[in-house]
Amino acid sequence: MISKAEGIVFRSIKYGEADLIVSFFTFEDGIIDFFVKSPRKIKSRYGSAFEPCTYSKIEYWKKEGRQLPRLIRSDIVYPFQKLRENFDHFLKSSELFEMTLNLVPPRLPQKELFYMLIDTMKSLENSSIMLKKALFYKAKLLTASGYVPRLSGCAICGKEGRAFFFHEGAVVCPICKEKIAKEALTPKLYLSYGAIKLFEKARVWDWKKLDRLVPSMGLLNEIDNMIDLHIKFQTEKNNKTKAFIKRMGYLIHETTG
Ligand SMILES: [Zn+2]
Repeated sequence: MISKAEGIVFRSIKYGEADLIVSFFTFEDGIIDFFVKSPRKIKSRYGSAFEPCTYSKIEYWKKEGRQLPRLIRSDIVYPFQKLRENFDHFLKSSELFEMTLNLVPPRLPQKELFYMLIDTMKSLENSSIMLKKALFYKAKLLTASGYVPRLSGCAICGKEGRAFFFHEGAVVCPICKEKIAKEALTPKLYLSYGAIKLFEKARVWDWKKLDRLVPSMGLLNEIDNMIDLHIKFQTEKNNKTKAFIKRMGYLIHETTG
C-alpha cells in the first residue's frame, strides 16, 4: 500500500554502493527512516530531495514486518537552500535535528513540534532571531518528549531555587541543597532568575506568543548551555549510536532492495 506524508530530511546515510537510508521527521508519523533505492539514478527527478533540511511531500511503500519503508517519490515543498548554504545556520539546524532524533522515539507523531521546527528553520534562514527561535524549539521539544527540566520550584520542597542539579533534572533550594550535600559529586549549575523565568515562559507560553519575547544574548546562552548539559546528562552517552544501530537492524536483516 502506498502511503503519503510530508516531512523534513534530518539526515541521509549511504547504504551499500548506491542506496540511501534517509531519516525524515514527518508530520503524520514523526521520525521515520526510509530506504531509497538508487537515488542517483533518479537524480533529475529528485534533485536535492535527500539533503538535510529539505521539506518534501513523499510517497512510500509500507513494508511487511521489520523492513524499512521504501520511498518512491519526493516532491520538494521548500528546499531551505539558503539555510543549508550558511554554515552557522546549517550547524544550528543540525543541532536541533540531532536533539530531536535523540529525544523523540521513532514513529511517534509530534505534529505541533513539526510546525514549530519549520517555523524555527524559517527564522534560521532569516538569521537575526535564530538563537531565540532555536532555544524556544528546544524548550518545546524537551516538554513534548518528557525530558523537560524542572525549574519552576525546588525538586524536594517546591520553593524557589537556583541550583540546577543534573541528576535530579531540577532546581533545588538552598535548604534542601544542604540535605543532599552528601552527594557532592552530583554536577550542578547555578542559574540566574532571569534565565529561569525565560525558560518557564518558553516552556508554557503558546508558540506564537513567544515571538514577543526579546531576551538578551546572555540569558539565551545561559539557557542554551543548561539545556545542552541537561540532555547530555539525561541521555546516555551512546544513546544516539545505539538507537541508530537498532534502526539499522531493520534494514540489515531484511531489506533486499
Ligand atoms: Zn527545597
